[in-house]
Amino acid sequence: METTSINSLSQMNLFDVYSVSDIEIVKALGSLLWDKNGKHYLDLYGGHAVISIGHTHPHYVSSLTEQLQKIGFYSNSIVIDQQKQLAAKLGQLSGYTDYQLFLCNSGAEANENAFKLASFHNGRKKIIAFSKAFHGRTSLAVASTDNPAIVAPVNENNNTTFLPLNDIYAFDQAVNNEVCCVIIEGIQGVAGIQIPDDTFLQHVAQKCKELGIVLILDEVQSGYGRTGKFFAHQYAEIQPDIITVAKGMGNGFPIAGVLIAPHIQPRKEMLGTTFGGNYLACAAGLAVLEVIEKENLMENAQLMGDYLMEQLMKIPNIKEIRGKGLMVAIELYEPCAPVRKRLLEEFGIFTGTASNKNVLRILPSLAVTVAELDKLLNALRILLK
Ligand code: PMP
Repeated sequence: METTSINSLSQMNLFDVYSVSDIEIVKALGSLLWDKNGKHYLDLYGGHAVISIGHTHPHYVSSLTEQLQKIGFYSNSIVIDQQKQLAAKLGQLSGYTDYQLFLCNSGAEANENAFKLASFHNGRKKIIAFSKAFHGRTSLAVASTDNPAIVAPVNENNNTTFLPLNDIYAFDQAVNNEVCCVIIEGIQGVAGIQIPDDTFLQHVAQKCKELGIVLILDEVQSGYGRTGKFFAHQYAEIQPDIITVAKGMGNGFPIAGVLIAPHIQPRKEMLGTTFGGNYLACAAGLAVLEVIEKENLMENAQLMGDYLMEQLMKIPNIKEIRGKGLMVAIELYEPCAPVRKRLLEEFGIFTGTASNKNVLRILPSLAVTVAELDKLLNALRILLK
């Protein structure tokens, strides 16, 4: 019999989407990472705000392991107890006890479904979004993302108007009763941590209510306790019609959600997705919420964020420090790439950047410690001298 070796077949190559370095991480614990050569690093980026409770947290690992030993997946056509428990816990910790939760798999998918719900609700088509917004890479998420690199010809005739953030006058000029929805990030992340003013959010919420516009709060990056409150918009004490969550929700396991206010009624078959709310995703999601609650991680995020920003203020050559809790931008006077590279190569610290290339983005686990933040502060004292 003839056998074919893998080498004699033409080989499929991986499309390398994001890679910026060849460090291969093979192990992690808390805020620590190890590469395949055994070198360790400090993770202050949390895989882009995904690591909420720290890497390989024992409760998270045992919850997922125990679930996998029982059942990992059956069908999306039955409701399971874990989904109800997750919805109840999310309601309890966020305060949105009367909202309904739809479970899906990514931030973009959550936003896509939010747009769908909004347009079914009021029958309108126009979207208002904000300059430099990022909402994901599916069709409507791209259409509401303001980034010249993230476009698609299919969306060229889109219905989105982008407005400057915090500009009440521009907002009032643009809204009318033809607008379907306004989508806004609780805090703009990819843009480089741009914070909507409380008064702006309150004005937007009020106007949306008056004109029957659905207000969608994208809390994919800013939610899940990162800012010290469960959702960043809760500082402004507004109540959106729809809230989207992902990233920190699963601490690395793909899970996302759409929180839907009682007056927005999804119909059966309007929403759906094969993997959404599977046993493992729910086990991950529930474990994350249990750890956030048990270890007071929202309070820690607030305390650590305040400490970090206070200490950063004392370091020279920083143009601006912005943030709430553990969502912090360190804006330099020039592109941050050389500083970011030296942080990684000389100090073993992972940080992020933003579409504003001068911004170093700090998004650690909500369980980060003073000692870990001090490593960053000491390194920056040396590098920015
Ligand atoms: N919304 C916001 C605010 C985000 O930051 C992101 C991811 N950076 C998304 C949506 C898209 O999430 P995902 O990559 O899970 O689709």
